[in-house]
Order: sequence, then C-alpha cells, then structure tokens
Amino acid sequence: MPTANTLAARMSGTGRRLTTQRVVVAEALAAAKQALSAQELFERLRARHPRIGLATVYRALEHQVELGMAGRLERAGHVSAYVACQPEHHHHLVCAACQRVEDLDEALLRPLLRSVDERHDFQVDHARLDFYGLCARCRRRGART
Ligand SMILES: [Zn+2]
Ligand SMILES: [Zn+2]
Repeated sequence: MPTANTLAARMSGTGRRLTTQRVVVAEALAAAKQALSAQELFERLRARHPRIGLATVYRALEHQVELGMAGRLERAGHVSAYVACQPEHHHHLVCAACQRVEDLDEALLRPLLRSVDERHDFQVDHARLDFYGLCARCRRRGART
C-alpha cells in the first residue's frame, strides 16, 4: 500500500506532467493552423513527445473546447476535429479537402439571427455554425469532398 505521502507526491507529479502535456497539445494545435483530429495531432506530437498518449491528447483537446480555446468540428465517421480558436468566436468555414479553417465574419450572421428572432420569436443566446465545403485553392486543384 502506498502511503498518503507517496500518493500525494505521485499525484502532484502527474498534475505537473498533465499541465505540461496540455500546454504541448495547445501549442501544437495553434501551430497547425488547420483542423486536426486527436489521432492526427497525436501522430504529429509522437516523435518529439514519446511519453504523450492518444487518450491524453484527446482529453487535452476536449479540455481546450471547454475553456473556449478550441472549436470542435465534425468529420466523416463520427470523428471530431479540433481547431484553435478565440473564446468569443464560434463560426468557421472548414475545407473538407485540406482541413484549413477560416473564421467566419460574425457580422454575416447578424441578419440570420435577427430573422430567427422575428420568424420564431426566439431570442438567440449563443450559436455555433460551422460551414463545410471546399476552399478556393482546393476547388482550383479539382479536389472533391
Ligand atoms: Zn474560430
Ligand atoms: Zn482546401
């Protein structure tokens, strides 16, 4: 049986390592400048951070979503992709071919939110709208979703 002291030491050790790993994941996602699944980010990190596990990467990404540091996007096959984001920002244009993500100008959505209010008598508090398609570069290359 480990004593309370050794447990505390071990847990604080885990805590420090967890924090470091979360920072590593956050930095890697921000540097990627595209949407990445947990698996893809894990593969990018593996060479330089051999101690990091896929589950840790996944949990770190979900934690970033909770903190508003990242947005969660859909991929085919019920896979989530993640993109580094500002807390006040919620709308994205996602290229399904190259996974580049552009922030959508919030002003474009104001008329839509006004219409929702008028037609449905519903006051929108917050919304998440992500648009999936092909960016100009990928369309020129003849890419398909
Ligand atoms: Zn964003
Ligand atoms: Zn593209």
